[in-house]
Amino acid sequence: MKTVLITGGSRGIGRATALQLARLGMRVLINYKSDHQAAEGVVAEIQAAGGVAYALPCDISSESEVVKLFETVKQQHGDLHYLVNNAGILFQQCRTEALTAQRINTVLATNVTGLLICCREFIQLARHFNHFDKKAIVNVSSAAARLGAPGEYIDYAASKGAVDSITKGLSLELAELGIRVNGVRPGYIYTQMHQDGGEAGRVDRVAAQLPLKRGGEPEEIAEIISWLLSDASSYVTGSIIDAAGGR
Ligand code: NDP
Repeated sequence: MKTVLITGGSRGIGRATALQLARLGMRVLINYKSDHQAAEGVVAEIQAAGGVAYALPCDISSESEVVKLFETVKQQHGDLHYLVNNAGILFQQCRTEALTAQRINTVLATNVTGLLICCREFIQLARHFNHFDKKAIVNVSSAAARLGAPGEYIDYAASKGAVDSITKGLSLELAELGIRVNGVRPGYIYTQMHQDGGEAGRVDRVAAQLPLKRGGEPEEIAEIISWLLSDASSYVTGSIIDAAGGR
């Protein structure tokens, strides 16, 4: 049975990905930061359908917590085959005049530093077990990396631009080991994240302006992540798939 770790797997895109990968027969390790009940809810849903899942708390913005998380994975679950770097945060929509260094650094600590430290630990785990073949990482970026999120959250957009650079660099660094690294850039997906930006109805507001004339569902992103992890995409690395309704 292949094992996948999904950061931020307790809700939204991470949750949909956890359910999808469990359906495909993987052991799913669901990382979350604080909402224990939501994470256990996803575990229960997977178990009720006959799948295997565990919830693992860890604030990925803390290097020491990430090190502990991967130590737990090693001790309790052994090797990891796949890593989905999905956890990401944003704050209240604002213009650049209102940004603070503290806010920017908080966003970067989770979306960039945390993600890269998770990649580091994944590689070290692979080295520990001396097993690299057919492993894959998927980084969840955002259409904001291309669009810049003006008037909303340029700090968040910048963090996702960095995620795309990591995807490119790491894919080249790890290619000779056989570890593939790809990304997905979702946009306008119906999740609770938009509440954190202060506009719960954001997706509905922009839906009509999108070429496909609707917002996206978390399951539509989960499908892409699932394909990028699978052997069906075995010749794809360093690629980033846009999934933002045509924008
Ligand atoms: P949600 O806000 O719905 O879920 C976020 C998840 O990440 C939760 O499980 C949360 O756990 C977890 N999380 C947050 N911070 C941390 C942390 N420091 N350590 C560990 N886990 C953490 O997000 P979405 O599903 O909407 O987004 C998932 C990814 O997709 C993000 O990277 C986001 O940037 C990206 N994305 C989303 C888009 C959208 O329209 N929704 C568009 C483009 C990109 P807990 O609840 O316990 O804090």
